[in-house]
Amino acid sequence: MTPTVKLASDLIRLRSVTPDDAGCMPLMLERLEKIGFQTTHLRRGDTDNFWAERKGNGDGPLFAFAGHTDVVPTGPEENWQHPPFEPVIEDGTLYGRGAADMKGSLAAMVVACEEFVAAHPDHNGRIAFLITSDEEGPAADGTVRVVEWLEERGEKIDCCLVGEPSSTERVGDVIKNGRRGSLGLELTVFGIQGHVAYPHLAENPVHKLAPALAELAAEQWDNGNDFFPATSFQVSNINGGTGATNVIPGEVKVICNWRFSTETTAEELEDRARKILDKHGLRYDANFKLSGQPFLTAEGPLVKATQAAIQSVTGKATQLSTAGGTSDGRFIAPTGAQVVELGPVNATIHKVDECVAAADLDQLKDMYCGVLAGLLR
Ligand SMILES: [Zn+2]
Repeated sequence: MTPTVKLASDLIRLRSVTPDDAGCMPLMLERLEKIGFQTTHLRRGDTDNFWAERKGNGDGPLFAFAGHTDVVPTGPEENWQHPPFEPVIEDGTLYGRGAADMKGSLAAMVVACEEFVAAHPDHNGRIAFLITSDEEGPAADGTVRVVEWLEERGEKIDCCLVGEPSSTERVGDVIKNGRRGSLGLELTVFGIQGHVAYPHLAENPVHKLAPALAELAAEQWDNGNDFFPATSFQVSNINGGTGATNVIPGEVKVICNWRFSTETTAEELEDRARKILDKHGLRYDANFKLSGQPFLTAEGPLVKATQAAIQSVTGKATQLSTAGGTSDGRFIAPTGAQVVELGPVNATIHKVDECVAAADLDQLKDMYCGVLAGLLR
């Protein structure tokens, strides 16, 4: 078993269901301290976080690996062919909760640093780790708190590699150099409850809402750009009515979400949505919640170093993408850092029998090593 696969297995064995770290961080910290990292444990609420940093020679960039030790719940464990917290390799595949999201990446990061520091003890710049135990949960006391702590100290990450599983078919085929923003809306439209036989004595909020909702759904919010698809709007829930056939409901509730590009902002979307609702004369209560700003890391030193590292390990080019859900990159990018995500194949993440090809983790380790060499040698 290679050092990367061994460390990944040791991490999988720890039941770190979000936001419990369950001893994963001590395992990583011990290894990092041994090779000269200064470490700071940052407990916030029920969440463990750490920042670790190794100073080299010269005033090169501050490069950080970012990731999370927590995993999503397993669901009924009897549905797993391979028990989720008993890592096992079968036909070259490593099984266990977190194998792909993202204990395999964490192991690859640590071993990559061990190899890189052994070969280049006097590397340029600084290598850092920003690790949290709450990425999969509310993420309120995780990465965002470490970023605040860094800001208080006047520290700025120049380049950040997030280990989220970005790959689709083979490791390194896709890296994420940005993410769409996410804006939620909880909308309540008010009417007047009454008997369906006496509609003139009532006011039907469903009838008022329907044309407004149709207009929201048909709206072209923007056309996207070279990096992002067009902003999308989706209704995810709609609830109203008493269950009786003869009652006009007093109110109807809708939950919607925008995934938006850098061509628009959350403020603009809210403004335009309110204009549509107002135009239809609705009485409503609208609660907008921004859960992530969009971000984009244009081609530059980090993207270049990552592409080159992948090319040299696999002999193949990589594709840049901004698709998929949000990640903790949303907290790091607004500080001005370049951010890319590179991790294993994401086909089984959050599923039963989560797994990753063991050889992929060693390739990933070599890619991480290559990124370090590209930026800090
Ligand atoms: Zn993840």
